[in-house]
Amino acid sequence: MYLIFTDLDGTLLDHGTYGWEAARPALDRLKSEEVPWIIVTSKTRGEVELWRRALGNGHPFIVENGGAAYIPAGYLPGAARGAGRRGGYEVLEWGTPYSELVASLETASRCSQCRVRGFHEMTPEEVGRLCELPLEQAVLAKQREYGEPFLILDPERTEGLLAAIEGQGRRWTKGGRFWHILAANDKAVAVQALTALFEEACGPVVTIGLGDGLNDAGFLNLVAAPILIRSSHSGELQARVPRGEVTERPGPAGWSDALLKIIPAGHRDRGPR
Ligand SMILES: [Mg+2]
Repeated sequence: MYLIFTDLDGTLLDHGTYGWEAARPALDRLKSEEVPWIIVTSKTRGEVELWRRALGNGHPFIVENGGAAYIPAGYLPGAARGAGRRGGYEVLEWGTPYSELVASLETASRCSQCRVRGFHEMTPEEVGRLCELPLEQAVLAKQREYGEPFLILDPERTEGLLAAIEGQGRRWTKGGRFWHILAANDKAVAVQALTALFEEACGPVVTIGLGDGLNDAGFLNLVAAPILIRSSHSGELQARVPRGEVTERPGPAGWSDALLKIIPAGHRDRGPR
């Protein structure tokens, strides 16, 4: 069976407007063919829950660049090993508590004399303005558990800052709008874990991945069919994902084109439920 992992911003959602209507043909196909599709994003759990409702997605999802995976209780037969139970989900966690990451970012900023502005310093209004999000979504975006998005205020000192982050034993990545400081978590680690759980439950799966950012490169290199959503920086991403195929159209339109091509109508995949 097919198993799809997809980024949201700039991939299934338009980078500027967050519109997804152009993806409807493929979303309908995934529904009729019962192909599970898993959101893998830097967004928080609260934001993803909102988008899952809007998009009609009832599948597991991965938040905050692989900080945790949420599996609806009862979705997969048997509990995932090492999973906790929270709010109707089985939760697998890889992230480090948020406060420790914020402290590491502050130390790295001080050591490298590179000023940064993290989400924790921003008001919901500021986050909303920077992300072009309505206020209630900006509030959800600030509810970080496993990673801190930040802006670099002294771009000429970027290299020193990133080295200092690594010196703190942390990792960094770059999404569409922000840099992120992370612990050991990575979208790829979470994708690997969920793929294994699906294979245990359903037998061999053919994985498809869709993303547009450098923070997607790790998981795109893991899947059988990596799809790179066209953007102004697709060249940079393709250099890191040599097997990746770049879509003709950007955002949700490219997302839809690529999936309609791979998953034929009448394919009748059967997910775990
Ligand atoms: Mg993206």
